[in-house]
Order: sequence, then structure tokens, then C-alpha cells
Amino acid sequence: MGSAVTNVQKGDFVIVPFTNGCGHCAACKAGFDGDCSTFKGGAVGFQAEYLRYVSGDWGLVKIPGQPSDYSADMLKSFTTLADVMATGYHAAKSAEVKIGDTVVIVGDGAVGLCGVIGAKLLGAERIIMMSRHEDRQKLALEFGATDIVAERGEAGIAKVLELTG
Ligand SMILES: [Zn+2]
Repeated sequence: MGSAVTNVQKGDFVIVPFTNGCGHCAACKAGFDGDCSTFKGGAVGFQAEYLRYVSGDWGLVKIPGQPSDYSADMLKSFTTLADVMATGYHAAKSAEVKIGDTVVIVGDGAVGLCGVIGAKLLGAERIIMMSRHEDRQKLALEFGATDIVAERGEAGIAKVLELTG
């Protein structure tokens, strides 16, 4: 560990967000570390057991305890915080979702499903998930979606307009 790193210590259990910003440039300070002007292209090897991370004092998220303190399912959930959950939440945040809003999420993959969680966390009252997969529809409803729209294209637009008035 470099001597300038003070927020974490050797042996800490951390999540490494895949966006890998420097924390000091204008993009990072504005919250868009994926567009960091210092680390264009970022590092590779995320979601691996070991990774060389060059902005350790800024981007690492410390998790209490050690991996052995958590179940395998919890460890998998932590992995989402390094990637798809951060992306889904960022989408909801970028869309300026606020308390009482109605949100439509197009796409029921991992990021879309995490977008449901992000919208719910930001206070969306109605969350419409565009989804054609029954298993993902169930997850979306479990995560906070209030409506499912399976139609696509013009039919999907018409259904959303019907639901939202
Ligand atoms: Zn930066």
C-alpha cells in the first residue's frame, strides 16, 4: 500500500468500484468518476480476488469485518456494489429521481434491476419495469417495482402512457 493511502489499512475488506477515478479531477469531483481525466481507460481485472488499484485513498469502500464474516450470498451481493448496483443507482441518480416520482426502467438485466433498487432508495413512488422475463419480473417486484410492462416498441410506449396518464 502506498504511503499516501490513509483511508484504508492493509488487510481491510474493501469493495473496488469499477469506475476507478482519481478523486481529484473535475469529473471525479462532479461525481462522474467513470469519465475521470486522470485514469482514462481505468484498470482491468475487477471482480477478481486481487487487483492493483491506483487511487486507493479515494475509491475504495471499506466493509466491516473480513470476508469470512459473511455468507457466500452476502459476498455475491457485495460484488454487485462494485459494478451493477452502482450503475443502476447512478442511472437513477442521473435521472434525478426524487421522492414521489414515477420511473420507467427499460431493460430487466442486472443493471435494470439495480435501477429499480436505486429508484426505490431515492423515493420513487411508482416504478414501471419494462420486462419480458418472468423470473426478472418477480425480482423487479420484490425490489420495488410497482408495474410490469412486457410490451415493446410502440405498444410498450402506449402501455406506459396508459399507466401514467
Ligand atoms: Zn478523476
